[in-house]
Amino acid sequence: AAKGAGRNRFSYFTPALQVAALNRMRLTNDLRSAIKGEQLRLYFQPIVELGTGIIHKAEALLRWEHPQRGLVSPLEFIPLAESSGLIVDIGQWVFDESLRWVRRWREHVHPEFQVSLNQSPVEFQREGGTYDVWLRALRQLDVPGQAIVVEITEGLLLDASTMVTDKLLQLRDAGIQVALDDFGTGYSSLSYLNKFDIDYLKIDRSFTRNLAPDSSDMALSEAIIVMAHKLGLDVIAEGVETPEQRDLLAAAGCDFGQGYLFARPMPVEEFDALLQAQVTNTAAG
Ligand code: C2E
Ligand code: MG
Ligand code: MG
Ligand code: MG
Repeated sequence: AAKGAGRNRFSYFTPALQVAALNRMRLTNDLRSAIKGEQLRLYFQPIVELGTGIIHKAEALLRWEHPQRGLVSPLEFIPLAESSGLIVDIGQWVFDESLRWVRRWREHVHPEFQVSLNQSPVEFQREGGTYDVWLRALRQLDVPGQAIVVEITEGLLLDASTMVTDKLLQLRDAGIQVALDDFGTGYSSLSYLNKFDIDYLKIDRSFTRNLAPDSSDMALSEAIIVMAHKLGLDVIAEGVETPEQRDLLAAAGCDFGQGYLFARPMPVEEFDALLQAQVTNTAAG
């Protein structure tokens, strides 16, 4: 009995935080080998022009196929990649893959096709010239900067250092466009939309979810769309799941939609096939 109690006491007093920390350490180690071991996959989710239903862009979304755990969410491993510094190699890999594919899609699908990449604040703000490497790659493959959209979040602009401003200018000079991701979840100040020369505003899916005729979220979305347009930005709604949401957004003048209604994020080969089918249909119709 004493032995049993001892065991129980041991597990009872095992600090949960320590277990979590250990778990994070293991996963970080695994992530290191994931990059070399080709366990990372880039999925693409279509961004659709609401007026025509045509796929104009795609967001690149990272997936990790862990050999034991299965698919690990980026919400779980991106923070580990950031704290360990692995985000640098991962981000470069995402860029290289995206560049290769967008080049093909601009050639075969649409000359203005764009791939949208997420840059977390840590990734964006780290010291050094990541974007020089990007610009070199663009030149080498002869792809214009306009092929790439970088998605950043509001927090980055809120306390924008000169480093942030400089990097935004470097992207801008290369023709790379900038989208403000998850708009509506943070401070949602409209002032920096003007200050920073942003191209796209992505309305967060927490807004889209609650859209209904005459609802307050509908009124807010309409106001955001009108203001964005006055400032020269195009609007992309995230998380469009129902035809009703799509129709309300289209009626409000929203330019693009992204969400399960159109398609879930999918492996690149699948997305490539979807685009080829669109080309064939457009040509036939
Ligand atoms: P995000 O940039 O806001 O990406 C949109 C998220 O919404 C994606 O989650 C996407 O799968 C999901 N989504 C799209 N349509 C719908 C819908 O209709 N309904 C619902 N419920 N969800 C939808 P995912 O792929 O799990 O990515 C989560 C976050 O991880 C992203 O949020 C982004 O912040 C981050 N992330 C993903 N890939 C990368 C990457 O390559 N680099 C960096 N730094 N972050 C990434
Ligand atoms: Mg995004
Ligand atoms: Mg988003
Ligand atoms: Mg979001």
